[in-house]
Amino acid sequence: MKRIRKVKVIKILQISPNMKRITFTGVDLNDFPENQNGGYVKLLFKNDLNDKEDFLARPYTIRDFRKHNLELDIDFSYHSGNQGYATRWAYQTQVGDEISISGPGSKQLIDTNSNWFFFVGDMTSLPAISSYLEKLPSQALGFAVIEIKSINDKINLKKPKNIKLKWFVKSNKDENTEEFIDAVKVIDWPDSKPYVWVACEFTKMKYLRDFFQKEKKICKNEMYISSYWKSGLNQEEHKVAKKEDSLNWGN
Ligand SMILES: Cc1cc2nc3c(=O)[nH]c(=O)nc-3n(C[C@H](O)[C@H](O)[C@H](O)COP(=O)(O)OP(=O)(O)OC[C@H]3O[C@@H](n4cnc5c(N)ncnc54)[C@H](O)[C@@H]3O)c2cc1C
Repeated sequence: MKRIRKVKVIKILQISPNMKRITFTGVDLNDFPENQNGGYVKLLFKNDLNDKEDFLARPYTIRDFRKHNLELDIDFSYHSGNQGYATRWAYQTQVGDEISISGPGSKQLIDTNSNWFFFVGDMTSLPAISSYLEKLPSQALGFAVIEIKSINDKINLKKPKNIKLKWFVKSNKDENTEEFIDAVKVIDWPDSKPYVWVACEFTKMKYLRDFFQKEKKICKNEMYISSYWKSGLNQEEHKVAKKEDSLNWGN
């Protein structure tokens, strides 16, 4: 079991219509490790869904940690899907509120020796993509295709100048799965293979995995590909689906 820390909200900033940055602090962050931006912690909520566990855990990306001030930033995207525990909490919380976090979990390392990079994500993985882009060498080449909920959710990202951004605005009415996958597929590839990093909704992740693996011949070890959530399932149910899927994912 990872260490549990109690932290307090000290700042809330609406960074776009559907993204809110919450800054946490607390003496428990004294020994929180540095250089974990892009990795994740789990926010813990008292479970009143069932009697299986005392707490429900929701993974969120470490957007920034400033050790000198013991300040941890987490960016919460808004979703209206049954208003899960974490989203409801993030969109109601006030400065001074306390919450427990566990982690950090293990961070995915990007292969910075790669010739070029291909990132795909949505608003849940935008914090992780933003953190990784900040750390790439300045001469890095590539693309990032990011699904956002509205045109006003486009934000300025610190990134190498030759990483091109493509913002895909999702419709309010449906998942736009085909259109999103097409927005990824139409990008022109140089001759060599990129390092691929993908995190998004489960079904979209599976289509993208097929595309990268079968059409572009990218092997498992040349990409990080993960679902961060699954439409219609809460995080506990998503974890089960994810585990089952990973057992069946071949090379
Ligand atoms: C490693 C990792 C890092 C993550 N980092 C971030 C982050 O930095 N910021 C962030 O916003 N999210 C992040 N996520 C995603 C976040 O953990 C999930 O969206 C989570 O399910 C939200 O919890 P909840 O309690 O609000 O909803 P849940 O109780 O899990 O689900 C309730 C309902 O809402 C739906 N739902 C959940 N998420 C979404 C969504 N994004 N859009 C539409 N419907 C949804 C579910 O399908 C379900 O029907 C991350 C996930 C992982 C695995």
